[in-house]
Amino acid sequence: MKRTRSELRWNPILEEWVAIATHRQNRPQMPENYCPFCPGSGKVPDDYNVYIYPNDFPTFSLSSPKPENRRPNLYKVKKSVGVCDVVLYHPDHLMTLADMEIPRIVELIGLWSMRFQKLGEREEIKYVFIFENKGDVIGVTMPHPHGQIYAFPYIPPVIERELKSAKGYVKRKPNCLFCDILNEEKREGKRKIVENRSFFAFIPFFARYPYEVHIMSKNHVLTLLDFSENMIEDFAHILKIVLQKYDNLFGFSFPYMMVMHQAPTDGKDYSFYHFHVEFYPPYRSREKLKYLAGCEMGAGTFINDTLPEERAQELREISIRSDGS
Ligand SMILES: [Zn+2]
Ligand SMILES: [Zn+2]
Ligand SMILES: [Zn+2]
Repeated sequence: MKRTRSELRWNPILEEWVAIATHRQNRPQMPENYCPFCPGSGKVPDDYNVYIYPNDFPTFSLSSPKPENRRPNLYKVKKSVGVCDVVLYHPDHLMTLADMEIPRIVELIGLWSMRFQKLGEREEIKYVFIFENKGDVIGVTMPHPHGQIYAFPYIPPVIERELKSAKGYVKRKPNCLFCDILNEEKREGKRKIVENRSFFAFIPFFARYPYEVHIMSKNHVLTLLDFSENMIEDFAHILKIVLQKYDNLFGFSFPYMMVMHQAPTDGKDYSFYHFHVEFYPPYRSREKLKYLAGCEMGAGTFINDTLPEERAQELREISIRSDGS
């Protein structure tokens, strides 16, 4: 068998790391009726509510080999050290986060927090990234309800950009950029989806995707670890409401990427940052998908074919089952 390679390669033009993980090519197609995440598979406990499953084909690993450093001046490489978790949300194969009961979502948030703390405490981990890819069209191979956690040995570039602008903003104003966005969205109200005691959900003024919802904490908090018990409860509720609205929008289980943006775990001061969640759903209408194409990938400018204010109104008016509120 060919030797696999796992390393980080530096792109000196875009100044970002690319993770080479050739073992991921060999990910098996699962047999028709077998799911490793289902109780009874032999791979997970026979009874669990939520469960951390170590990714069988991790991009980063704590035992990642030291790469040979070739041409260090131009082409830097470094160890692909980190952790890749699969977070199982529920034992039921057909469940989704949108349909889970509130106490189960609260339990999931507890697991996210625990894992965030544990991974963040590690010396080699600078950023803990919690996310979910949902749906065939996103390329998900396992339908069983799950998300992922990537513990990075560096702060990934999207977060870097957000940190840089938030830091610059607080120097000039001096307010939190995210608190100001929240206040502006509250004041205008046209892009609001739903709010509760602790959270506000909206499609931002500058949305790149038609149904790009952001959930922001009303309190200025940096990570899940700053959540009070009320906030945890409110977070579970607002997640469920947003996701139920997504599912009811076109009458099918709505695919999305969900990403959690929290402060890094490298021990520095990030008091200018602010906890939020972003959703990027690929659908722009019932039949049409938004593809990332030349302008988005090659120039870095997203073209949104819709008006965020109109899409927000549409989502705001979607009704959900009463247990979701
Ligand atoms: Zn399953
Ligand atoms: Zn803030
Ligand atoms: Zn963000």
